[in-house]
Amino acid sequence: MGVLGELLELVLPQVCAGCGASPGLLCTGCFGALTCPARPAWPSPVPPGLPAPWAVAAYGGTVRAMIVAYKESGRTALAHPLGTALARSVLAASARAPGPPSGFEVPVLVPVPSARAATRARGHDPALRLATEAARLLPGAHCVDALVQARGVADQAGLTAAARLANLAGALAVRRAGLRGIKVIVVDDVITTGASLVEAARVLRAADAHVLGAAVIAATPRRARAPRDQGNQRRTSE
Ligand SMILES: [Zn+2]
Repeated sequence: MGVLGELLELVLPQVCAGCGASPGLLCTGCFGALTCPARPAWPSPVPPGLPAPWAVAAYGGTVRAMIVAYKESGRTALAHPLGTALARSVLAASARAPGPPSGFEVPVLVPVPSARAATRARGHDPALRLATEAARLLPGAHCVDALVQARGVADQAGLTAAARLANLAGALAVRRAGLRGIKVIVVDDVITTGASLVEAARVLRAADAHVLGAAVIAATPRRARAPRDQGNQRRTSE
């Protein structure tokens, strides 16, 4: 879609990317679905090594339609409302990070990288653009495109939670030095099983970055309210 999609977006009559019923980019009701407070978004089961995840919405209905329109249909103007929602998740993840209270930690936002082929086909990198937009809205924060896909992976759709973890194990690599001691929030658009966030956190920790948490826009509704051993999870997320 890419540049063509962005041009079409300028010249064609728009309908709401959420409900498809109202004129414009997003109607008031669909925009409202992105303005809920950020909440813990633990999947069930919780995969080992998952940094504490935060989300502002459930993945489904109009929110799913917005994210798909943004990623797959070239409606890149949605980066602003979606990035604003992501920024609130980042704030929550930063404020609730484990460890002694030290006020708001200005984090580095590290997006989960897309496959190169997907980026080429879409004409843009959706998670990178969202992370950049969220960082722009948070004073002192910035986005670092620190990760890269080290190998091809199978499509995650339809895989079980365990199969997703196995599919992504070792799939990412750090592509820049200088992450030692840096406080980072891993960001993505959606959390399903948490496998992508686990793999991103694994390589960042291996590079001696300090992973404070994870922030996404939406979580699949099968998430549990909180893991039974949340204390252990929080310790392993450090
Ligand atoms: Zn709408």
